[in-house]
Amino acid sequence: MAETTFSNATHILEPFRGIKKVTLEEYFTSGHRTCQGCESALVMKLMVKAAGPRTIVLGSTGCMYVANTTYYTTPWVVPWMHTQLGSSGSAALGTAAGLKALMRKGKMKSEPINVIAFCGDGGGADMGVGAISATLTHKEYNSLILLYDNESYANTDIQLSGMTPYGANTTFSPPGRVKRLIHTRWKKNMAGMMAAGHPECRYVATVCASYAVEMMNKVRRSLTIGGPTFIHSLDPCPKGWDYDPMLSHELGELAIETGLFPLYEIEDGVLKFYGKTKAIVDGRARKPVREYLLKQGRFAHFTEEDLAHFQAKVDEMWDKWEIPGGARREVTARRSVSASPVSLGARRKTASGPVLLCGCRVALHPGRTARGGAALGWLTTSERRRR
Ligand code: SF4
Ligand code: MG
Repeated sequence: MAETTFSNATHILEPFRGIKKVTLEEYFTSGHRTCQGCESALVMKLMVKAAGPRTIVLGSTGCMYVANTTYYTTPWVVPWMHTQLGSSGSAALGTAAGLKALMRKGKMKSEPINVIAFCGDGGGADMGVGAISATLTHKEYNSLILLYDNESYANTDIQLSGMTPYGANTTFSPPGRVKRLIHTRWKKNMAGMMAAGHPECRYVATVCASYAVEMMNKVRRSLTIGGPTFIHSLDPCPKGWDYDPMLSHELGELAIETGLFPLYEIEDGVLKFYGKTKAIVDGRARKPVREYLLKQGRFAHFTEEDLAHFQAKVDEMWDKWEIPGGARREVTARRSVSASPVSLGARRKTASGPVLLCGCRVALHPGRTARGGAALGWLTTSERRRR
């Protein structure tokens, strides 16, 4: 009986149609102690501004916990709770389930309340990935997990994480005379991984606060669509990346323009590219990654050979991975950034090989088929329109 009075509805948060339409109210204000130029602090501000006042924020240990809630001070205007380092997923699920139970029992007013749990790359992509994965299987609870990725354990002095880029100088991977590059792994593809393995998760997106309105609109979409949702944000970090704080915005843009971090969303299995990533998919040349890397002290030890290797890996992402280029296709020859890009349409005509995601052969959503391509995989918006 109580169940009938309970609604699992979400807030309907319409997208902001331009910067002038963004609401003025702030729910993340002064009182934090993040570094000058900290993009993650901007992400927090935009995230909760997009969500609005009926929101609970849960934060796992990391910069956005420690620097934001030093003893007796906090910038959070909405209810906020600290969670353990690997527990953003558990906290999101537990809070959403708790709210649902209280509303069902009539112990609190039944109304949509946004539940957002954030985590850093260490807390989310390394030690918290299991809990996030579990949460994304529970379609009966509404929550958003936002991973703010500053590519290191920045809070504890820039240790290497699974999201640290190839070759970067961290306190765990200092370049030396005997071995110049200590860290030689390519970073995890968190958004792709979460999208590929969680058929109950209706919405996965990548964002960058350099594109603030788009970022806020993806947060609003994720909260509107309901169920468990996941957003991966790439956040330039002046301290960890070693650059002048005034460059944060520019570095965010360069990460997109070089193709290193594609901006997209996957809603109900439909892949849609955004902004400059969409332009690249449609044929615009990617900027060389050296423009991005050489602005950061963590890559100051790179040689021309290292830069060429890094560029080749990004090219490979676009040629081989499922999501950066968005098409299902066989592995093609590597393409240098100077070569004219192949359009998505042209690529699709040659598509006949297995689905490739995160560089691995994986089955995505069984039963979802793509016309003229592999039997399994994402549909781009234009593909869906054609069907
Ligand atoms: Fe922000 Fe990086 Fe400073 Fe942490 S270390 S507060 S992420 S700029
Ligand atoms: Mg981090």
